[in-house]
Amino acid sequence: QVTVRDLTKTFTINQKALTVLKGFNLDIRPGECLTIVGASGSGKTTLLRVLAGLEAADGGDVQIDGRSITGVGRERAVIFQEPRLLPWLTVLGNVAFGLEVRGEPRKQAEEWARRYISLVGLGDFGDAYPKQLSGGMAQRVGIARALTVQPEILLLDEPLGALDAMTKITMQEELTRIWSEERVTMVVVTHDLEEAVYLGDRVLVLPKERGGAIRFLDIDLPRPRDRSEPRFVKYRE
Ligand code: ATP
Repeated sequence: QVTVRDLTKTFTINQKALTVLKGFNLDIRPGECLTIVGASGSGKTTLLRVLAGLEAADGGDVQIDGRSITGVGRERAVIFQEPRLLPWLTVLGNVAFGLEVRGEPRKQAEEWARRYISLVGLGDFGDAYPKQLSGGMAQRVGIARALTVQPEILLLDEPLGALDAMTKITMQEELTRIWSEERVTMVVVTHDLEEAVYLGDRVLVLPKERGGAIRFLDIDLPRPRDRSEPRFVKYRE
């Protein structure tokens, strides 16, 4: 359970204050996939970075299971548009790396890494190097790397934004499968409304006006989603 209360975040650009989040409140339900859309500059990435602990808020509070977060923590993992894999390490090395720097013995780290490499469908590619992978495969490695630390919450910022249209569709299905198999809470920022509806249990629409009304779309569709079905969504404030 993640609760966000009265969150405020202001940036200063050219000595002018820009308030991006103003009295922002949100409850993220355990196990849900919450997608976030909104106009460019509405603060999607800022919100995700604050949830990740990569950016400090100016006011307000983010709690996970009743504890206020300060900075990054093992219960949260973040995935960006570019997976930024280490080019000198294999797929297995990249996925195991995060565990090794946390002090896991190499053998244990690699064992865990193999499990997640299989989960993302790359079981045969453990020995491949990043330059040998397609964009979709590289992002799968990024997802496996994030999952090895067994986060409760996976925060994804435009995770499929750099992929071509067909790969995107495959990866949307993959993300849904991984989410349901791992029972992880997911928060996905996306520019793509169709993707938001496909992935999300709820879509959070950030308002254009700072401090304006937050809207949610409840996605009332069975899973797996049938892309040929017309979409019915309930809109509420
Ligand atoms: P996009 O859809 O274009 O990625 P977004 O909704 O994710 O946009 P943010 O990246 O959160 O929006 O940015 C919101 C506003 O905050 C923008 O006007 C941006 O210029 C400003 N901003 C974000 N990060 C910083 C920073 N580190 N310093 C100064 N201003 C920032």
